[in-house]
Amino acid sequence: MTTITAELHNRTKKKPIKGMMDNVMEQFYSAADHIELHPNIRKILSITNNEIIVHFPVKMDNGDVEVFTGYRVQHNNALGPYKGGLRYHPTVDIDAARALAMWMTWKSSLAGLPYGGGKGGIQLDPSKYSAGELERITRRFTFALGDNIGPEHDIPAPDINTNSQTMAWIADTYMSTRPPAERTANQHVVTGKPDGSGGLEGRDRATGYGVFLNIKFWAARNNESLSNKKFIVQGFGNVGYWASHFLEKNGAKLVAVQDAFGSIRNTNGINVDDLFNYTQVNNGSIVGFPEAFDLDNEKFFTSECDICIPAALGNQITRTNAPKIKARLIAEGANGPTNVEGEKILIDRGITIIPDILCNSGGVIGSYFEWLQNRNGELWQLSEVMSKLDKKMKESFDKVYDFSEKERIDLRKAAYCIAIKRIEKAYVQRGIFP
Ligand code: GLU
Repeated sequence: MTTITAELHNRTKKKPIKGMMDNVMEQFYSAADHIELHPNIRKILSITNNEIIVHFPVKMDNGDVEVFTGYRVQHNNALGPYKGGLRYHPTVDIDAARALAMWMTWKSSLAGLPYGGGKGGIQLDPSKYSAGELERITRRFTFALGDNIGPEHDIPAPDINTNSQTMAWIADTYMSTRPPAERTANQHVVTGKPDGSGGLEGRDRATGYGVFLNIKFWAARNNESLSNKKFIVQGFGNVGYWASHFLEKNGAKLVAVQDAFGSIRNTNGINVDDLFNYTQVNNGSIVGFPEAFDLDNEKFFTSECDICIPAALGNQITRTNAPKIKARLIAEGANGPTNVEGEKILIDRGITIIPDILCNSGGVIGSYFEWLQNRNGELWQLSEVMSKLDKKMKESFDKVYDFSEKERIDLRKAAYCIAIKRIEKAYVQRGIFP
């Protein structure tokens, strides 16, 4: 295991997703300037606390051994244990993990949760491995992380290409490697577990529902109805699907979708559940859906619509497509989908962005509910979960919207200011050890 502390920010030139870290740092500095953040706290928050990189061997189905690289970056824990997902994707590297960990710090703080921020994952393409191989990879990764995760220290959750099954394997491995008396008391080492294994009813839809709620709150503030609003979604995984599901139920119309395999459109509307059912028998892909037409990938973001929901990877809206985007609202289901250059163009064009740390925070709020449920030995009902989520999302949205109007700043900067101020307060109260 290698723990990097000195080599921070010595980022490689060949990063698969360019500039995730550059974006989050620029967003942070711009808000820090606005609130005149104390220089000492700026220094602390500019850098990650811990960076764990593990290399571990796993036996493949054919008997060969493959060595994988896993990451866990712990950005800040001033407000509580590190919290954030584990992503299985070829773009996972130290730069991505750092940026995503920082976004978790701001997200947890903004949502008023007792958590800091962390993120990690494994650089791999899960479609190339069998279920058995993925299980062994996950269990061996958990073992390699050892005490770097823990229910009161660092609590992973699902992210891209990881799900409740992945979390169940992590929880089982973690608990199985504790001393006997501590085994069952540790299931809240991860959130996003299956319903039957300490998971929270509704955690699956929490992020997408939160995205929908933010759009609903935005519409209400602008005296608009969701009825017949056209929306497009990039990514039809957990977030994209559930956001679309709730929007459709509220009268909006899905007109274009993009996933890792291609893009489709139908200006008369795409039925969300029909599309979801199609993906289930089409290797997870939307391509070829009979009730829609193929669309060139480059034309997706510039499709005619009112609302655009990027719910896949980072850096998707850039200076290349931002000038031609038709949507009036961008609701960021993904983390970091709009880069700084793209954002400037959108803001100049009067397009509103509901920023990731607000828009997709339903997931980590749901995780917090699950963690509380496990810690207190409770089982919450779905209706209770949804109404609690609704209340928390509304509080966050109102705080951000009001602050942005008061200070005449965009929603992202407002969200960052609120998030950073809460962390600043904790540092001011506690001081710096020793
Ligand atoms: N991966 C999700 C996110 O980016 C959820 C994190 C969590 O629940 O800890 O917000």
